[in-house]
Amino acid sequence: MLALLLAGCAPSVDPIERLGRKAAQRVRPRSPATEQPYLRWGLTAPLPAPPHPPARPAHPAARTSGLPPVLDHVDTPDRVVFLTYDDGAERDPGFVDMVRELRLPVTLFLTDSVAGPGYGHFAHLLAVGADLQNHTLDHPSLRGLPYAGQRAEICGQRDKLHARFGVRPRLFRPPYGLYDTTTLRAAAHCDVSAVVLWRAALTDTDLRFTHGPHALRPGDVLLVTSDDDDLAGPTLRERTTRLLRGIQGEGLTVGRLQDYL
Ligand SMILES: [Zn+2]
Repeated sequence: MLALLLAGCAPSVDPIERLGRKAAQRVRPRSPATEQPYLRWGLTAPLPAPPHPPARPAHPAARTSGLPPVLDHVDTPDRVVFLTYDDGAERDPGFVDMVRELRLPVTLFLTDSVAGPGYGHFAHLLAVGADLQNHTLDHPSLRGLPYAGQRAEICGQRDKLHARFGVRPRLFRPPYGLYDTTTLRAAAHCDVSAVVLWRAALTDTDLRFTHGPHALRPGDVLLVTSDDDDLAGPTLRERTTRLLRGIQGEGLTVGRLQDYL
């Protein structure tokens, strides 16, 4: 599926944008030093900025139950999808450059015991515009655990992220995507406004949809992951570039998740 998706034709170029690119080429011949960032990162066209302000969805479930909604898709008319990354094990300095140069609004769900040794790396990502959100202290499977233990995992990582980075995470992703009603109660206690799963995950080899149509749709939350045992696989940057090409091929761009929730 990914092969089909990523082999799709190049996105059409707006005539005005094409004119602008021609003008830019006339005054500034391409060279490695002056190349547009999207070319440097393997794209054939710039990533359009998401609409601003975005069209916000309503969460009637949250209003009636007092619990945060669980979602893997945002209802929005905007032609955006959302890029998320988990845990914090991969610390590729080049990925920081990619996020900065493409102004890529990525969301990282960090686990303290995994990301902790690399807090400097994540501080750089925060500085170039990434959002840091909550993925527990120790990455347990929360489903079935007592309330106090779940609350300690979620509030504990909220407090760590605030102490380390000054951020106040409002989004939470349970490890392995597993949760129960106790998780939602604990998350609400820890200031979580939405529990975020994913509708499709990009592995080293393909894009795996969790349910629904096997095609990207506006509002989809995407997880960029890797096959842990494949050290020779594509880098985080390479996997992100492949996914971005697929996103562009569908006429979509990347939105900032926390602007929509
Ligand atoms: Zn995880």
